[in-house]
Amino acid sequence: LERTFSIIKPDATRRNLTGAINAKFEAAGLRIVAQKRIHLTKAQAGVFYAVHAERPFYDELCEFMASEPIVCQVLEGEGAIAKNREVMGATNPADAAAGTIRAEFAESVGENSVHGSDAPDTAAIEIAYFFSGLELV
Ligand code: ATP
Ligand code: MG
Repeated sequence: LERTFSIIKPDATRRNLTGAINAKFEAAGLRIVAQKRIHLTKAQAGVFYAVHAERPFYDELCEFMASEPIVCQVLEGEGAIAKNREVMGATNPADAAAGTIRAEFAESVGENSVHGSDAPDTAAIEIAYFFSGLELV
C-alpha cells in the first residue's frame, strides 16, 4: 500500500475542520496511519516549501503556514498519492471539483485547507521531515 503526506493547514484547523476533512479521507479509502498537531516556525515552513522559494507568494505562504497550528498526517491506501490529490481538489478552490475538500472548505488559492504530496519521492521526503520511524507503524 502506498503512503502519502498530508497537512491540514491553519485556515482549516482554525475553523475546526479537522474532523470533516478526515471524514473525506476515510470515505475515499485513505487510512490515517499517523497524525499530530504542531506549530511550525516560519523557518521550518520555509524548508518544507523550499521548492517554491522563487515564487512571488513564497513569503506569504510561509507566514501563513506558521500562523497557527497545523495537523500533519500520513495517509495510506491503494494509489494514496493520486487519490489524496483527487479528494483535495485543484489548488485554487475556484477550479476545484464539487465535493472536494478545497471546493467545500478552502478560503483562497493560498489558504486552501490542505497539502498533499505530489509524487512518491516527495512523499518520502515529506514524511521523513515530519515523522520519525518510531511514529510510523
Ligand atoms: P500543496 O503543495 O500545498 O499540496 P498544490 O500542490 O496544489 O498544493 P503548489 O503549486 O504546490 O499547489 O503550491 C503550494 C501552495 O502554495 C498551495 O497549496 C497554496 O497554498 C500556495 N499557492 C500556490 N499558488 C499560489 C498563488 N498563486 N497565490 C498564493 N498562494 C499560492
Ligand atoms: Mg504542491
